[in-house]
Amino acid sequence: MYNDDNIFAKILSKKIPCKLIYENDFALAFYDIFPKSKIHALVIPKGKYLTFLDFTSTASLNEVQGFFAALKETTELLNLPNGFRVISNTGKDGGQEVPHFHMHILGGEDLGPLIRKP
Ligand code: AMP
Repeated sequence: MYNDDNIFAKILSKKIPCKLIYENDFALAFYDIFPKSKIHALVIPKGKYLTFLDFTSTASLNEVQGFFAALKETTELLNLPNGFRVISNTGKDGGQEVPHFHMHILGGEDLGPLIRKP
């Protein structure tokens, strides 16, 4: 169940600010407030979707296309010629903290292996 009080819903409604990178009709891209790499951005759909699965199974084709276009534009604006990593944490095992679908773009340095367990 989507909760309108989540932090990304508040960013979308401009109740709290963000460091904007890119915006189109369907998505917003901004810098992560607690960066996990030298460059760390988030891309979120403007619609109310809880998870990756919720988004990919219920969003319209326009929304999906608009979201991935924003993701692509954002990686270009961030200028990451040596590459980057795109991640979507989903649910409890995926470590999802904010219950509004989002994708992380991480880069600006060698990120090492995909998973580093403590
Ligand atoms: P996840 O664990 O995939 O749900 O990631 C949520 C991400 O949102 C984390 O990397 C947080 O640092 C980030 N975050 C939380 N609050 C904000 C905020 N107000 N502005 C930007 N990023 C945020």
